[in-house]
Amino acid sequence: MNEFDLIRRLKPLLTVTSSVVTGAGDDCAVLANPGSGREILLKTDIIVEDIHFTPTTEPSRIGRKALARVISDIAAMGGIPTAAVITLGLPVDFVPERIEAIYAGMADLARQYHIALVGGETSRSQGVFFINVALTGWVETGCAVLRSGAQLGDALFVSGELGGSIEGHHLDFTPRLEEGRWLAQQRTVHAMIDLSDGLAGDLPHLLEASGIPGAEIHASALPFRRSARLRARSGDTAKPAVAAALTDGEDFELLFAVAPANAIRLLDGWKSQFPNVRISCIGRLTSQPGVFLRNERGLMPVTANGFQHFS
Ligand SMILES: [Mg+2]
Repeated sequence: MNEFDLIRRLKPLLTVTSSVVTGAGDDCAVLANPGSGREILLKTDIIVEDIHFTPTTEPSRIGRKALARVISDIAAMGGIPTAAVITLGLPVDFVPERIEAIYAGMADLARQYHIALVGGETSRSQGVFFINVALTGWVETGCAVLRSGAQLGDALFVSGELGGSIEGHHLDFTPRLEEGRWLAQQRTVHAMIDLSDGLAGDLPHLLEASGIPGAEIHASALPFRRSARLRARSGDTAKPAVAAALTDGEDFELLFAVAPANAIRLLDGWKSQFPNVRISCIGRLTSQPGVFLRNERGLMPVTANGFQHFS
């Protein structure tokens, strides 16, 4: 059983109260905060040694990553982060200096984004070292950009570049907080998600939440990260740049859907607001079920592992 099958089984066991505006199934939970003009955003995330970082990863970059991942989820809602609590699962032989350096990395990023680190919890862990960060934030009432608002025919946009994250981007990425905030304020973005599992992995989440059958991605429009292109050129035939852009994961870019009529205005606004951050229109939402890649050979079905031609 994979992670997503398990989540499907657990979802019916979650409880809902009148406070829940948007529950499980989006980048953050959205909770009512009556009288404030704001809604509360809530997100938790875990990174695990030997999955998200290694024993030799520079500790400050581990801490930075642990917090940056949850900031990215607040960004995907168009919100502002507020405060975080941190839970550590510590192996018996933990080195206190390493944990301090991890915290220092987290604190540097927290200061940069005006996030309070307000405590946490530690426990002995049999073997594996993990760091969990839970983050709160807020968004003006009714202004959260959900995964579920996309419409048939919408143009699909992505910020930044995709693929090759393992070369360092997965540790050092800048969460697209300002960009997500700006997008939410435009009021023309129908749906948004941050890319943590790769375009091929996360686009289906947006489609499913919105009840849209499918999407068509244009291979020639995909923005490749330099490391994705270099790996492809170095003869890594298992991962051509297109496959890397679709499946590598941990891009932490924003994927969002906009009505074609509003696309040009959004593009122009973005380019004047964020001249140093790339934006790409990579495809559109369609009624044909499934995700497809259009390239010079025609239309190919895309799965979470890539597109069929290469798998
Ligand atoms: Mg997310």
